[in-house]
Amino acid sequence: MSKTEAITVTSPLLPDLDEFNDLLKKIWDSKWVTNNGSFHKQLEQKLCEYLKVPFISLFTNGTLPLLTALQALRITGEVITTPYSFVATTHSIWWNGCKPVFVDIEESTCGINPDKIEAAITPHTTAIMPVHCYGKPCDMERIQAIADKYNLKVIYDAAHAFGVEVDGKSVLNHGDMATLSFHATKVYNTLEGGALVVHDAETKKRIDYLKNFGFAGETEVVGPGINSKMDEVRAAYGLLNLKHVDEAIKKRHQVAIRYREALRDVKGVRFFDDMPGVKHNYSYFPIFVNADEYGLSRDDLYFKLKEQDILGRRYFYPLISTFSPYKGFPSSAAENLPVATRIANEVICLPMHHGLSEEDLSRILDLIVR
Ligand SMILES: *Cc1c(COP(=O)(O)O)cnc(C)c1O
Repeated sequence: MSKTEAITVTSPLLPDLDEFNDLLKKIWDSKWVTNNGSFHKQLEQKLCEYLKVPFISLFTNGTLPLLTALQALRITGEVITTPYSFVATTHSIWWNGCKPVFVDIEESTCGINPDKIEAAITPHTTAIMPVHCYGKPCDMERIQAIADKYNLKVIYDAAHAFGVEVDGKSVLNHGDMATLSFHATKVYNTLEGGALVVHDAETKKRIDYLKNFGFAGETEVVGPGINSKMDEVRAAYGLLNLKHVDEAIKKRHQVAIRYREALRDVKGVRFFDDMPGVKHNYSYFPIFVNADEYGLSRDDLYFKLKEQDILGRRYFYPLISTFSPYKGFPSSAAENLPVATRIANEVICLPMHHGLSEEDLSRILDLIVR
């Protein structure tokens, strides 16, 4: 049997190499390679325009803006969050010396369930950290209403939500702050990278200090900062990729349409349709396999695809709450997280990126449709 090429769950959007070389030449000529250089400034400005946000601060990855947001808002005690995410969400809480408290998710969005937040609030609670999972917007109005009632901060992990809008407005403007990841696996990437979206110039200044050791001038340190700056090379790469991201999202949309058409009548396989009023980014295409109805379990299907070199991913399995640093917490009990526990056992994210061909999609779908 001839070996076919593997189809991976994602594939990085890469800028044109010649164009990138031209920008590298400029960096080499200027000898200014990091510390808020000209490409860094340009990328912050272009991203503000593209994302429709007032202020953005670039970071070296998508985890450090989470850490820095909690630090900047002086979050202490307990932080309510979702177990159904990439593990960095919870780690950022732990690295701030705070205790994560897990709340179950809603099946309709895979985001935190607002109905269950209030019961998890204690006198120690200071913040909520929800995730726009798969780029599907959380119920932001209800989350904000709860936060206002109990005087809590809200930090959105919006790592999946690049460019996502509700009624023409960016989801990134909700909460006290929102974070982005520009990791190679994301819709928009700078190889590694990330950002923090804030509402005002004063906060942006503070964040810029914090990501540069807390330096507010040559000799003045105003806070316990860290080093999480983005360099010029990745900022230049990011500027080029920004020119192609719309086209990449369009291609992803076409892939989603193809998957939905083919899977619509497959018993035991559930997937998401677009939400009304939402501009999606098609960052992931999760399917949820009901073993009884489909006739194969999620893992049966996952390994069947893998055998044929179709490398879906079980995002998010296992739940963060089951990992060793967190599994002993009362809120980590499976009985507290019934929906997340079930969904984690049903999910496979199918290959989703701008480079998938009709041939690839047929190869994938032929194995799933039954
Ligand atoms: C990718 C991701 C992160 C971390 O981003 P990095 O850039 O890899 O550090 C955080 N949260 C979520 C939900 C993610 O998917």
